Amino acid sequence: MSETNCIFCKILAGEIPSTAVYEDDSFRAILDVNPAARGHVIIITKKHAANIFELPEEDASKIFVVAKKIATAVKKAYNCDGVNIVQNNGEAAGQTVFHVHVHVIPRFQNDTVNIKWKQGDMPEDMEAVAEEIKAYL
Ligand code: 5GP
Ligand code: ZN
Repeated sequence: MSETNCIFCKILAGEIPSTAVYEDDSFRAILDVNPAARGHVIIITKKHAANIFELPEEDASKIFVVAKKIATAVKKAYNCDGVNIVQNNGEAAGQTVFHVHVHVIPRFQNDTVNIKWKQGDMPEDMEAVAEEIKAYL
């Protein structure tokens, strides 16, 4: 259920303080301690799972419903122009806390939040790329 040395498990157990904005049977949503913007929320699963690969399907489907709820609330609270929903898996993808969570980040036109990648050229072998993935679906 919970993992020793996991910051988010400690937060869920009340061993590390946090500021919650939402809670249900499966998730708690708290303010990010080092926010990208005012109102940056992270939705944490109550059961420890390191990443999306370990996440039970039931929680995977429910977490986006919670993300929508939080996104709608921050949009109203801050009258922001947009909202990013971000979920990192693995160090290479920017994950720093290895307990699955979803970020909800309010965005404003011309703000300095940086969630961007350099777009590559369109692959010549689109069908082959699709087949590479479809082989595992
Ligand atoms: P990741 O980089 O793994 O996607 O995101 C981890 C997030 O957790 C970071 O945005 C970081 O600021 C936040 N975080 C790390 N430690 C704590 C903590 O003790 N309390 C809270 N509220 N957020 C934390
Ligand atoms: Zn954990």
